[in-house]
Amino acid sequence: MKIVKTIQELQNARKELHGSVGFVPTMGALHHGHVSLIQKSLEQNDHTIVSIFVNPTQFLAHEDLSKYPRKPEADIKICELAGVAILFMPEISTMYASFEPTLLAPASKAYILEGFSRPGHFDGVLRVVLKLFHLTKPQKAYFGKKDAQQLYLIQNMVKTFFLDVDIIPCEIIREDDGLALSSRNVYLDQTERSEALFISKSLKVATRLIMAGERDVTPIKAEILSTLASLHVEYVEILNRDFDTISSIEIGNSIILVCAKVGTTRLIDNLWI
Ligand code: AMP
Repeated sequence: MKIVKTIQELQNARKELHGSVGFVPTMGALHHGHVSLIQKSLEQNDHTIVSIFVNPTQFLAHEDLSKYPRKPEADIKICELAGVAILFMPEISTMYASFEPTLLAPASKAYILEGFSRPGHFDGVLRVVLKLFHLTKPQKAYFGKKDAQQLYLIQNMVKTFFLDVDIIPCEIIREDDGLALSSRNVYLDQTERSEALFISKSLKVATRLIMAGERDVTPIKAEILSTLASLHVEYVEILNRDFDTISSIEIGNSIILVCAKVGTTRLIDNLWI
């Protein structure tokens, strides 16, 4: 595995890869969720490039970038053992100039849900992903359904900017008890860890209702909210796969999105129906 930090090193290493390339962008502190994306890329491509970059432009001014979990040594081992060809770990100054054109995510889809409490977050996500796509030139790129709104906005950018890359959505990886894996789970103490389970439980409650034939979003939302009663809920939304509001669930075209704070940790989860 080549570990590269500069653009020149990345471009040189990329030129040596013949055949198909899959790309997995991450912010590091890798867990099994990330590994599942890497494994899918390894299965579907001749070579896999992983990036680890805690992207400053997707953090808001009050969000502490320096506190984001970092485990570079463990991440390098995970990528090496998995069989990654290139691991790109740039510095901020490598990825951004002091002045440069930016990118605005479409407001109607990027300033709701995650973007409502984190305005501008998705502008930064799209900006870095576009740069990384240009650098890594992948045939396929892998994103988790866990970050459903991010996945949707990236698919939209690829389509509307005519980018030549297939976006491959990957299933949410969970702990045995249902908690969706997240780099932020390390912030949870033991009590918070068990409280956090209400989030995946609320989605199971919704699943049961839908399996029993319920389609009206109002009672489903109410049941989710009552399961989450002990947490600080930021949003519970049931939308179609274009992130538009719906009144009735359409199987195969709906998504339930939940965000709640456990202590000071913001956790998101979702269910694709
Ligand atoms: P991050 O490092 O948080 O930016 O995540 C990098 C990629 O891993 C994103 O595409 C995420 O959606 C994906 N990811 C994070 N957690 C999970 C999970 N539990 N299951 C599947 N994919 C995940």
